[in-house]
Amino acid sequence: EIIEQTSNLTVKILIIGDSVVGKTCLLLRFSKNNFKSETVYTIGVHFMDRTMEVSGQLVKIQGWDTAGQERFRTITRAFYRGSHGVMIVYDVTSRKSFENVEYWIQNLKENTAVSDLSILLMGNKIDLEEERVVSTEEGENLAKQHNIPFFETSAKTGENVEKCFLLLTEQSLKKK
Ligand code: GDP
Ligand code: MG
Repeated sequence: EIIEQTSNLTVKILIIGDSVVGKTCLLLRFSKNNFKSETVYTIGVHFMDRTMEVSGQLVKIQGWDTAGQERFRTITRAFYRGSHGVMIVYDVTSRKSFENVEYWIQNLKENTAVSDLSILLMGNKIDLEEERVVSTEEGENLAKQHNIPFFETSAKTGENVEKCFLLLTEQSLKKK
């Protein structure tokens, strides 16, 4: 018997951060359990979703991707509207992307009521251990400063990816 999973409960999660840190790949890993080794250009497609049971309820987890606006830093209020959770992503092999986390947190604060949101910091690409330039401790300290949870992930292997989406979803449901 095939039961079509439908849910009216939708949680909107945004993924922000510098370009090339792996935002689109994280979303692809979560929603389609897939990985692409080339840069994934998101033209037209702005979100992907996956329906899961979370805290005993069927929830449509909708991950929203930027369509390259992050390169020009033109993410606006409209993008943030209606969101419940935000993933701020950097790449552990890029010092610059880590330094720019402050910019993204600032951008978030300027455009949304952050107290209504669940926020998570993610250091992605941990499968590239030899190329790592940002230590786990640095990520942890930055997250602690902003009082947000922190995880290191790999969209390539899938490590911690589902965990991050689930945590944000659970926190969002509590706030709803
Ligand atoms: P975005 O610009 O932040 O959306 O970045 P993309 O998702 O397009 O990824 C940029 C590049 O990084 C692509 O070549 C991906 O294959 C690669 N990439 C993304 N995530 C990972 C990861 O966890 N590990 C590795 N090794 N490469 C990754
Ligand atoms: Mg992208």
